[in-house]
Amino acid sequence: MHTFDDLTQRIATACLDYAIERLRMDPVTLDGPLPLAALRERAGTTITREGREPEDVVREFVDVLAPACISTDSTRFISFIPAAPTKAALLFDLVVGASSVCGTSWLEGAGAVYAENQALRVLADAAGFPAGAGGCFVSGGSIGNLSALAVARDSAAAARGSRPARWRVAVGEQAHSSIASALRLLDVDALVVPSDDQDRLTGPALREALAADADPSSICAVVATSGTTNAGIIDDLAGIATATREAGIWFHVDGAYGAAALLAPSVRARFAGIEHADSFLVDPHKWLFAPFDSCALLYREPARAKAVHAQEASYLDAIHGGDDWNPADYAFHLTRRTRGLPLWFSLAVHGIDAYSDAIERTLAIARHAAARIDAAPHVELLRDPELTVVLFRRPGWTEADYTSWSDGLLREQVALCLPTRWKGEMVARAVFLHPECPESFIDELLATMA
Ligand SMILES: *Cc1c(COP(=O)(O)O)cnc(C)c1O
Repeated sequence: MHTFDDLTQRIATACLDYAIERLRMDPVTLDGPLPLAALRERAGTTITREGREPEDVVREFVDVLAPACISTDSTRFISFIPAAPTKAALLFDLVVGASSVCGTSWLEGAGAVYAENQALRVLADAAGFPAGAGGCFVSGGSIGNLSALAVARDSAAAARGSRPARWRVAVGEQAHSSIASALRLLDVDALVVPSDDQDRLTGPALREALAADADPSSICAVVATSGTTNAGIIDDLAGIATATREAGIWFHVDGAYGAAALLAPSVRARFAGIEHADSFLVDPHKWLFAPFDSCALLYREPARAKAVHAQEASYLDAIHGGDDWNPADYAFHLTRRTRGLPLWFSLAVHGIDAYSDAIERTLAIARHAAARIDAAPHVELLRDPELTVVLFRRPGWTEADYTSWSDGLLREQVALCLPTRWKGEMVARAVFLHPECPESFIDELLATMA
């Protein structure tokens, strides 16, 4: 199993041939899940005591298991937040896998960590973060938010020299579900600040909520969202920055989906104020065209994160002797895949401008979709898309109509387009993330609602 023998050669041929075939697939088929019983019947017991021929196992994956997974990189996948990894990033993910680099510490992975940090620097520069900023790649926005909020809470405790009976974090109404989850794990309560008429969290609303609060000293942080998941709305980052500075509380920006558009000149101004954040994150596995799983987490003052997250043990003393940069010190994790490398490689090969262009192309597709919805007599646009989430309704439809429409789309392999709720009403939601999504797809989709 550990030498490159004849069997390994066959495994390599089978796996790499399929990897290239999948990378070349055009268009990518949407596919979809099968019920457990159907998978049991088709795939049966896949693992045996004596092992099986590699070609047979790869074939089983290709013919049975892979088609039972929706292709998130299909241009027809427009739900949740889709994926659109570059070929370069996907190919380098294979290299990362083949290299067994451990990204825990400088001692183990200096060269890889150096490259990951250059990719982080590109994102820090895009946000206008200072030269001393830094962080690490974690698996996703959920772990990133949890890690940043732990730093926010413990920094407040350290700065104030005391802890209230219950810490609280101010959040907008549209904050991502992972924020509520992180606060529950941290045993911290949420102060939900009402949105303005544009459905944004704003500085004035935050200031008002803090002024009206009976116990403002228990609030240690504010979470703003730069690109809400449900509607792509960017909070009033500049106003929130001012309010958090006045109140002396941590300013965290959850840009898991939207902060990629820091690289898009046409919308960059909407992120004004992010440069004042104490921490922010963006998921390269979303709109920065990297494979799963990848979240870039950045701190204005990384030393604060290290004080909270660096793990201590005699077997870790060797990595903590000097002032080496250990990615493990900046989030809740220890062993880590160098998951920033696929993004790094693709950025290095294609250059930052190609990313700006691809993100702008996606924004143009979303604007085109909004215009087509506006022009169509049978559907209504709910709000102009700020980024690439488009919410629209089909007047006259019941919830059952939306659900059966959506089920039918997947069954017919037209799209994965799931409804959502907006202000209590079930509506249609489309998220455009793939720069190669053809304009004709939008008319095709709208025609299914006629
Ligand atoms: C997707 C998303 C998250 C969670 O990120 P994961 O990578 O799925 O853990 C958090 N916040 C926002 C705004 C998101 O869109």
